[in-house]
Amino acid sequence: MHVLLVEDDVILSDGIARALTSQGMAVDILNNGNDVEIALQRNSVSMMILDIGLPGIDGFEVVRRLRRRGNQIPVLLLTARDALQDRVHGLELGADDYLVKPFATPELIARVKALIRRSSPNPLELHIGGLSLDTFSKRARVNGSNLELSVREWAVLEYLMHQSSRVVSKQQIIDAILPWGEELTLNAVEVYVSRIRLKITDANIAIRTIRGFGYMLELKAA
Ligand code: CA
Repeated sequence: MHVLLVEDDVILSDGIARALTSQGMAVDILNNGNDVEIALQRNSVSMMILDIGLPGIDGFEVVRRLRRRGNQIPVLLLTARDALQDRVHGLELGADDYLVKPFATPELIARVKALIRRSSPNPLELHIGGLSLDTFSKRARVNGSNLELSVREWAVLEYLMHQSSRVVSKQQIIDAILPWGEELTLNAVEVYVSRIRLKITDANIAIRTIRGFGYMLELKAA
């Protein structure tokens, strides 16, 4: 799950990003409204947290432009004060929800998850062979037994499950699971995949190596 966070207060955006990352989400941060459209083209973003008071075009204008172009990405507005007309204006323009600063982190996380769940084009439960992933509660099971995965292993496996029976490159995996600015080597992806393979040996699933390119996750032939 990718969240785009548009907030010019660096301390606040760092805090929000850390909270969401700890929930297994990838977070891209922008400090102004002008770059939102480019950011949305660069990554598949699940939802956006949008401050109203921004340098450049403000949060209201960002929402107005997105909706005018038919972009329905879920938007959670952050308002600096509990001004009724701000909230009403934001919702009328097409924002989905709002939070008044200062807010409690657990409430933010709950609202972000609720917006993603309501709009998710992907199934919340992924099943292949004996493996199932609940992408909302972040629980993985092999043949009904809980599977322990690190945050990165989870992200790699979830991506491979979404792309099952398709060949994906190591770079595609990196792009899908990392926020901008963070780096991961191709070797690290290999390490995650080998760890995942060991953990799902009983699931009747193969993660095939496509030499010099990447991987394909598929059901093992009977
Ligand atoms: Ca601001």
